[in-house]
Amino acid sequence: MKILNPATEEVVAEVELAGAAEVDRAVEQARAAFASWRKVAPGDRARLLRRFAALVDAHAAELAALEVAGAGHTIGNARWEAGNVRDVLDFYAGAPERNHGKQIPVPGGLDVTFAEPLGVVGVIVPWNFPMVIMTWGVAPALAAGNTVVVKPAEQTPLTALRLAELALAAGIPEGVLQVLPGEGEVAGARLAGHPDVAKIVFTGSTEVGKQIAATCAGQVKRLTLELGGKSANIVFADADVAKAAATAPYAVFDNAGQDCCARSRILVERPVYDEFMERLRAAVLGVKVGDPLDEGTEMGPLISAAHRDRVASFVSGAPYLQGSCPSGPGFWFPATVLTPEPDDPAFIEEIFGPVVSVVPFDGEEQAVRIANDTRYGLSGSIWTRDVGRALRVARAVEAGNLSVNSHSSVRYWTPFGGFKQSGLGRELGPDALAAFTETKNVFISEE
Ligand code: NAD
Repeated sequence: MKILNPATEEVVAEVELAGAAEVDRAVEQARAAFASWRKVAPGDRARLLRRFAALVDAHAAELAALEVAGAGHTIGNARWEAGNVRDVLDFYAGAPERNHGKQIPVPGGLDVTFAEPLGVVGVIVPWNFPMVIMTWGVAPALAAGNTVVVKPAEQTPLTALRLAELALAAGIPEGVLQVLPGEGEVAGARLAGHPDVAKIVFTGSTEVGKQIAATCAGQVKRLTLELGGKSANIVFADADVAKAAATAPYAVFDNAGQDCCARSRILVERPVYDEFMERLRAAVLGVKVGDPLDEGTEMGPLISAAHRDRVASFVSGAPYLQGSCPSGPGFWFPATVLTPEPDDPAFIEEIFGPVVSVVPFDGEEQAVRIANDTRYGLSGSIWTRDVGRALRVARAVEAGNLSVNSHSSVRYWTPFGGFKQSGLGRELGPDALAAFTETKNVFISEE
């Protein structure tokens, strides 16, 4: 498959796609490698992960450049990603030596639990944050003693392949981490359905997530799902409206809106609606769109022509506001603000592009009702100076990751994941380890 630079449409690389037979071979190798990887002493496994992190750090500039060329990310964004990959590997390098079982007081003997690795874990990755999302699955899986087969998105295999090379260079044994570029319906589906794969970590669309869940159900396969979102950014009248409006574009146009946590619905309390819109206009028109390698660029292109067409299909009629963008080559789409009716697909569906809908609301109760009127529940923001209200609304909004007076979604120390159709299970933080182990209870009689 030809990998295109989304900003120039030039061919960056050609990648061979794995079919079902290659997946089978990779799983067989991963199974063979599991037998010895699970027995590597915890301290040694930690050292290998730290060495992997150090190599990522040493190659951060190269990885970032590859992500710019292959995924169209801005250089600033791509540097953040390379740093996040290093940090997540370092974070889980602390796990092998601390992932204890328990000793439980029971009569008649000794009762202990073991956190056993699952075996072969399949990690299926989308194209929007290729190396970061891959690592959120790979790092805790390896730390817990599993071996991993990664299926990157068709469009963005380059950083995943490079990371696999760096893992080998760090001394992680062959077969422990494998990356197979391939088509979702072929390689991805085979990985999900393979009887020797113990768990799937899938990040992608809700639609494909449901198919994978059905496949996994047939084998009672362990599953983590990170799916779509349509998150609300709720601005109350008592908020710092200037700050809320100035930051709102970055909460949705970051990575050109191709972000599962994008705050793509802005709800503004009526008394400050006009002021907010005025300030939002200035902020949106100020977003710098263009060459992703330019240090000042804040928004790059979309991933593909097909995706650009899909994004455009949600903008019918004249938008409330639209910024400018390069005309081409490249898959560009301008920052767009809509003021839709509640039944407009643009207000309901995940667009996954630089399109934001703004609606007014009256009072806390209505804000919560609108925020929750979606099948999704991934993230969201609450802007208010009233601490009690911030807490009440945060407890009432059905979403996994909320921020107050901030748009932050991802901190690798803390759990990340979705309510409702945004997902199943949590990634990141210490708790994610539990999703890569099986608790085994052993009782030893004192008789
Ligand atoms: P997608 O669902 O089309 O593809 C995701 C991955 O699944 C790709 O690797 C693809 O090849 C593979 N795939 C496709 N069909 C498959 C099948 N039948 N069996 C197995 N694998 C298959 O998603 P996308 O367009 O790459 O990514 C965008 C979506 O990802 C958005 O909905 C976004 O919200 C979501 N996302 C969610 C999170 C999160 O953490 N919740 C993070 C990033 C992206």
